[in-house]
Amino acid sequence: MKFSNTYVGLGQRFYNKSQPTAVRAPKLFLWNTALANRLNIPAALQQDSEALAQYFSGNQILAGAEPIATAYAGHQFGSFNPLLGDGRAHLLGELLDDEGRRWDLQLKGSGESAYSRAGDGRCALGPAVREFIMSEAMRALGVPTTECLAVVTTGETVYRQRANPGAVVTRVAASHIRVGSFQLFASRGDVESLTALRDYAIDRHFPEIKQQASNHSVALVDSVIAKQIQLVVAWMRVGFIHGVMNTDNTAISGDTIDYGPCAMMGVYDPQAVYSSIDRNGRYAFGNQPRIVNWNMARFAESLLVLHPEDEQLLAQMQELINDFPQRFQQAYNRMMADKLGLQDLQPGDDALIESLLARLAELKLDYTISFDLLTKSLTDSKVQTFISADLGDCYQQWWQRVNAQALSAEQLQAAMRNNNPVVIPRNHHIEAVLADCEASGEASAALDFLAVLRQPYVETEETARYQSTDDSFDQGYQTFC
Ligand code: AMP
Ligand code: MG
Ligand code: MG
Repeated sequence: MKFSNTYVGLGQRFYNKSQPTAVRAPKLFLWNTALANRLNIPAALQQDSEALAQYFSGNQILAGAEPIATAYAGHQFGSFNPLLGDGRAHLLGELLDDEGRRWDLQLKGSGESAYSRAGDGRCALGPAVREFIMSEAMRALGVPTTECLAVVTTGETVYRQRANPGAVVTRVAASHIRVGSFQLFASRGDVESLTALRDYAIDRHFPEIKQQASNHSVALVDSVIAKQIQLVVAWMRVGFIHGVMNTDNTAISGDTIDYGPCAMMGVYDPQAVYSSIDRNGRYAFGNQPRIVNWNMARFAESLLVLHPEDEQLLAQMQELINDFPQRFQQAYNRMMADKLGLQDLQPGDDALIESLLARLAELKLDYTISFDLLTKSLTDSKVQTFISADLGDCYQQWWQRVNAQALSAEQLQAAMRNNNPVVIPRNHHIEAVLADCEASGEASAALDFLAVLRQPYVETEETARYQSTDDSFDQGYQTFC
């Protein structure tokens, strides 16, 4: 494996050199072969599960890796913390794939760092497996996301609400640069580091900006906004609730990062919130667009530190933030149109979308199943009778609208299917799988679930097992960071 560690090259203010803390008895629990192959991890190493356990627990360091804990700040639930940083993670270094794309390899749960504060630097098996399954599911759903390469159990105990088996999860990400990374330097007035970070981020994620005449700070904010809109719209398409959209959990690559307290929405409810610490519903399902807008304002503010007293630039940044809601709404409506099989948006479609969603909320209908049934109803009269009874006028309006298009029912159905999953990683199934992994000490329940989640738009005999809903489970569901 050939590491090329550009983040280390940014200098001491960006991180703390930090070695993982060895664990007692590392054992490979989950391995992502497809991802390992994309990263050109040698076949001989991939076949040696003992060596993998050593390397991906942090007990041994891969040749060329230079472990660091990255520094960042962040707004947590709206309050600014000037120094967070990787308190339980070690960035091993960067790998290039065959297309020349650069990937961060990061261990999480690998011990304390200079940024651990009161934390123990560790991760429990449940959250590690959750991150592996959720990120794999999201990828297959077509939602931008970080990925997981491995989960290794440590043979140690981690105390959270109770005693848990410990684990280290290896995360692969386009980068770990967060809005909070910019806030760190902005809040210190460290213009030199902030400029270096901006230019690094542009080089790594938005190289096209270098060719543009426009101001690079403005162009970067514009590009990151575009990515974040795509991301949150994709979350809204599949019913994903991130749960902790702090600015330190907003990656400027536009990938989903930090699967701590996330959940899937069952019954359609914009107010759905499951995180045990989100008492005011700040990060509720329907609040996610507003929050990402707020996070982008913090991002723009950070970059403005590079341009004091530049009124014109300030106005440009303000315009980007002010335009956000409209820009988001447009992307959101397009996504909903795709879910509903509408080739183009026509006058009246917004109202149709709204009334349909209002109907789902009113009747407490499941979001995924309702869209699955709409999709099926195009070619199945029994399903049509069933769903049209629930949706009433909304169904008739939709039916007339979609069938006025020059598409066969089959074409329409295929188009809708691409946007409406058959199966999502529902909360009660995830929890049952995590409990099984923990009780049995082996991964077969996770592997069975993953096999289905990797093809979320295809209905097979295996999917049936994971399509069932459990509204009462969801009602009492609580997630933890
Ligand atoms: P999160 O809410 O997961 O984004 O984490 C917020 C901050 O807390 C980050 O700086 C994490 O590195 C840190 N953190 C979370 N859990 C732990 C832990 N068990 N030990 C040390 N630091 C932690
Ligand atoms: Mg985090
Ligand atoms: Mg977390």
